[in-house]
Amino acid sequence: NRRIVLAARPRGEPVDGDFRLDDEVLPLPRKGQVLLRNHWLSLDPYMRGRMNAGRSYVRPLEIGDTLGGATVAQVVESMHPEWAPGDWVLAYGGWQDYVVAEGDTLTRRLDPTTLPLTTALGVYGMPGFTAYAGLHEIGRPKPGETLVVAAASGPVGATVGQIAKLRGARVVGIAGGERKVAHLRDELGFDVALDHRAPDFAAQLAAAVPDGIDVYFENVGGKVFEAVLPLLNDFARVPVCGLVAHYNDTAPPPGPDRLPQAMGLILSRHLTVRGFIQSDFIGLYPEFLREMGAWLREDRILYREDVVDGLEHAPQGLIGLLRGDNFGKRLVRIVP
Ligand code: NDP
Repeated sequence: NRRIVLAARPRGEPVDGDFRLDDEVLPLPRKGQVLLRNHWLSLDPYMRGRMNAGRSYVRPLEIGDTLGGATVAQVVESMHPEWAPGDWVLAYGGWQDYVVAEGDTLTRRLDPTTLPLTTALGVYGMPGFTAYAGLHEIGRPKPGETLVVAAASGPVGATVGQIAKLRGARVVGIAGGERKVAHLRDELGFDVALDHRAPDFAAQLAAAVPDGIDVYFENVGGKVFEAVLPLLNDFARVPVCGLVAHYNDTAPPPGPDRLPQAMGLILSRHLTVRGFIQSDFIGLYPEFLREMGAWLREDRILYREDVVDGLEHAPQGLIGLLRGDNFGKRLVRIVP
């Protein structure tokens, strides 16, 4: 069984040497277990945080651990009454060819005849649910309101923008580079699409929101957040979902300290700034599957995938994801 393990804790941006391709002999499944073959592995920004030591919302990896990740897998052998060879399942199979899993922990059976299996890792899985739940519980865009979202061509941001459009909001999407910006504007139908790398980005954003910003779905932090902050309206909502611009940071940004200004605006503009992890809202999952399933079948929500071929290329796939070289949901095809 080929697997990729954490070889060293990255300092700043991860490098190839922080990962190691390893080989091991897998145990056979015992009673209640299944042997799964991972076909598709999801690469997600949160994986960078797991490589660090220290407290977070989940336990960090230890050196030598297999990197974790959601997979679309197929049952090869089953010692569990509800799973049979050939069944497809959404698993937390990790960066490896095969995994032995407890049958009872496998909660989502996949039907390859309804939607493409890979959607269970993106728009119809955790990232799509993150968008859905963060808007439903915190962002709550109303018709005519202005919503801003960055990392807007990725699976979370693209879904946030499209759901907000379905809910009647005016949507400003932010992404890196002309190709992504054109996609937001021409294919996803966002009202405005901006490139955060433009030198006058903050001025472009101000011009794009003449009525201010009512919902800022925070995926990135950094310069985008700084440009958004002064444009937020009274009673604006800021679901804090991710801060990908900072995941490779090794030191605080240079001064001046902008925290007092930020807190001042939170106070004087009556802002709701609320961090969340999608699992906080897991009770919404059945509703998400129902509503999103219908939107996808009706082509009311579109999605893009960005495939990296071969398990051995997963490290470069993750390094690039944090830089923005993905265009859509980044997946690793493990089985050719
Ligand atoms: P994406 O596929 O969108 O990949 C990350 C993107 O971030 C890159 O493609 C890049 O896009 C953008 N980016 C990187 N650096 C910067 C920067 N300095 N400034 C602006 N944009 C930058 O990822 P996901 O859709 O999977 O995730 C989006 C966010 O949601 C992440 O922050 C992630 O951690 C978070 N998340 C949170 C969850 C939760 O439960 N709270 C669950 C799932 C995801 P570009 O080229 O456009 O700049």
